[in-house]
This record gives sequence, C-alpha cells and structure tokens, in this order.
Amino acid sequence: MDISSCNNLRVVLLSSPEAGHVFPILALADRLAEQHGVRSTVLLVTTGAPSESNLVNPPRAEGLVEIIRLPPVDISKLVGPDTKVVTQMYMMMREAVPLVRSAIAAMDRRPDAIIVVYFGTESLKVAAEFDMPKYVLFTSTAWFLALSVYCPVLDEEIKGQYIDEPGHLKIPGCKPVKPEDAVDMMLDRDDQQYREYLRMGKEIILCDGILVNSCGALEPKTLQAFVENEAMKSVLLKSPVYPIGPLTRRVEPTGLNSGILMDWLDRQPNQRVLFVSFGSGGVLSAEQTTELAWGLELSRQRFLWVVRPPKKGHVNDSFFPDNIEGTEDDYLPRGFLNRTENIGMLVPTWGQQVEILAHPSIGGFMSHCGWNSTLESIVSGVPMIAWPLYAEQRMNAAFLTEELGVAVRPEVLPTKKVVGREEIEKMVRTLMEHKDGEAMRERARQLKTSATNGLSQGGSSHASMCKILSDIEAKKKNGIN
Ligand code: UDP
Repeated sequence: MDISSCNNLRVVLLSSPEAGHVFPILALADRLAEQHGVRSTVLLVTTGAPSESNLVNPPRAEGLVEIIRLPPVDISKLVGPDTKVVTQMYMMMREAVPLVRSAIAAMDRRPDAIIVVYFGTESLKVAAEFDMPKYVLFTSTAWFLALSVYCPVLDEEIKGQYIDEPGHLKIPGCKPVKPEDAVDMMLDRDDQQYREYLRMGKEIILCDGILVNSCGALEPKTLQAFVENEAMKSVLLKSPVYPIGPLTRRVEPTGLNSGILMDWLDRQPNQRVLFVSFGSGGVLSAEQTTELAWGLELSRQRFLWVVRPPKKGHVNDSFFPDNIEGTEDDYLPRGFLNRTENIGMLVPTWGQQVEILAHPSIGGFMSHCGWNSTLESIVSGVPMIAWPLYAEQRMNAAFLTEELGVAVRPEVLPTKKVVGREEIEKMVRTLMEHKDGEAMRERARQLKTSATNGLSQGGSSHASMCKILSDIEAKKKNGIN
C-alpha cells in the first residue's frame, strides 16, 4: 500500500507517560506519516512530572502528526506505600480513559482506528463507543508478548509462586522462560501488579491486531509460533500479530551539537568507547555505583557514562528519576574523575542516547536492556553488556546473550547481588578488547542490516504495516466507522 492509497486515513495513538512508550509511539506516528501518508493524533497521558515535557520533540512530519497532552492524571489517593510502579502505571492509564474519550469526541473528524500501548488496553473500550477498529502497540519483544498472552493459561496450570517452579515456564512454540528471568509482574502472584498484568494479557487479544516492535530477523521462532503453533493460535483468538520493528527514533542531525560531548566523542578512535546508561529510570545503589566506577577505571577502556545519583537500597525501578539529588563527588570513588579524565566522560542524568549510539566512536553499550535501548543499540550495530534491572529486562538480557549472541552479562543477576569491580572489568575488556567482543560486534552489524532491511518498501515490517492499513481501510469502506 503506497502513500496515495491511505492518505485519507487518520488514526489515534495513545501512550502512557513512560519514555519507553512515548518514544516508540512517536516513532510510529512518524513512520505512518512519512512512509504511508497517514495522519495521526498522538494522545499522551501525563502525570505533571517535569521530566515528561522533555520527551517530545517537535513532530517532523509537518502537518501529519498532532500531539495532544491530556490533562495530568492524579492517582495519589489510590496508591499506598507498597504500590508498585507498574501498578501505578496501569492505574494512570485507567484514570485516563475518560480523558481519551473526551479527546476523541472533540476531534473534528472521527478517527479511522485507535492504536494503544499495551499498558492502555482499558482504553480499547472507547473504540467500540466510536465504532473504530482497535490495535495494541506492544513496545517490547514478541517473546514477552507471547508470555503476556499465555500467562492466563500458566495462571490456571501452575499453583504457588512462579519463582519457586523447579523447571522453566513453557510457552508454546517459544523459548521457555527461566522463572528468575520472568517479568517483574510475575514475581509475586499476590501483588496487584500481577492481577493487572493478567488482565492486560486477556485484553490484548480482544483487539483487531497487535503491532509488535520486533521482526523476523530478530525473533523468527516466536513470530512463527504466532502463526503456526496451534496452542499459541488458540490463545491469540483472532488477533493477528504484526511485526513492524525495529521502531526506533531517528538520529537528529543536531542532537549532539551541545558542544563538549560531541567534541569529546569526535576525538575518540572508532568503536573504542563504551556507552554506559540504564534507561529512563534505572538507578543503581550506592555500592553498585562505586563498583561500576572502579570496574570502568580498572578496565582502562574509554567510556561515556550517563550517571545518576544512587538511591538507597539495592535497585530503584522508578520510571521518573525527577527526585534524585547530589553531585558526582558525593557518590563516585574519591579521585575517580581526575584519574579517568583522559578516558572517561560523564553525562549527568540524561543523554541523547540514539545520537550517542550512532556515533562511530561507540563500540559497546552497557545497558539495562530496556527494549527501546536494545533496538537502538542493534540498529547502530553496537554489542552490549546486559545489565537488567526491572520489568521484562531479565528476559531481554537472556534473549540477547543466549539467542542473538550480541551481549555478555554478569554471572548473577544485578538485581540479586552487587556486581563486583573485577567482574565488571572483565566484561568490559571482553566486549571492547577481545575477539569474543569483536564477534559480537560483527553479529550486531549483521543484525542491523537484516533488521533495518525489513523497513524499506518490500521489506517484511513495511509489508506488515501495509497490511494493517489496508485492514483499516477495508473496515472504513465496509462502514465499521
Ligand atoms: N533515553 C535517552 N537518554 C537517557 C536515557 C534513556 O534518550 O539518558 C531513552 C532511550 O534512548 C530509550 C528510552 O529512553 O529510547 C528508554 O526506553 P527503554 O525501553 O530502553 O527503557 P525504559 O527506560 O523504558 O526502562
């Protein structure tokens, strides 16, 4: 389907406030506009946190992408001290449903379809009210999608906590999941976040199609299971899965023109810098931050570190690191900055990640394995040190090391035990200096080519998007809306 055949379509896209959802939904809006001429209105759920406003760049697809920030939702009366971040996210999306409804009602023309991020499945009921087809954007792996839609079956089959299971959790046609790698939501079946996750798994399959941010070059086996494995097909009911990835932000030509950082990167040799960053909200403990600093120093490799003041306790899983305080001198080893000034660069709190990863000097990425960060690394051909912290990141780390072969990882999960400086030094050297690291870099380069090939006309991800749009077009013609 080319631009001319769907340039009358208009879709509504809905995102949670989390960076890991906002970025891919905006990338989807851009892709719909630029490759298919489709107009979209992006509804952003907001909480009023200051960091949210930094996430949205002006839309590039002139005139075809409209961004509406919904009024902030207030869940303060609904949460207690133990309410998990993920539960809060589900609550915010629930509270936002009336706002979504009002925003659509106020539009000058009824949209032809709605696409919501997977945390927002409760807004799918609004689609029925406006007679629109409804789709879910799953911003993570097909493997995590498979686990999410199959979890209601596991819930029936398995008694007790998943984490106590002696064997792996089996998903039809897919790589089994080690219980300790299962998503945070499954770690405690008595917690509200598990009940919300189960509900989401049941709601996802009620839509007209699931767009997953992956592709055959990355996850051939799982994607095949969605179309060929009878047990998996029966779980999906009638919801087809459309692999449309990799959906990543493009590199902004002006993104790193902030001077010092760009100049520093330009002065480094090609592929010799390790980029260290733990996503939009990953914060290490004080002890782990110290060990990481020592490990980087001992490795004698060049590094660029997006560094955040540590939180008390072992690991923080806040999506919004707005309330962290302190300067580097407060939490880095004494003298670290002086001793590493010729090989290291620190960026406080937030870096232009896609631009940094695309710079020729970057040769490795120590990452929390958020799926957006992972894809950004792959489309830059950069191998990783997998350092999972929360959500589905342990699965992503297993996938990167065991399936794709583009990452090394600590022997014990960093959420279980502080990773010591010697192990960090060894991982960094392996990735940046050894032939094993070079082999991973080569594999990452191959994946970059095969994954991004699918995005152009005639590629598999482009074809998936065309199929979704022709379905929407057909439903429009047949009077569904
Ligand atoms: N990001 C960034 N700069 C930072 C930290 C994060 O640009 O300093 C972006 C990153 O490029 C990615 C998103 O924030 O697009 C984080 O999404 P991801 O799925 O990797 O992890 P999450 O933060 O949702 O756990």
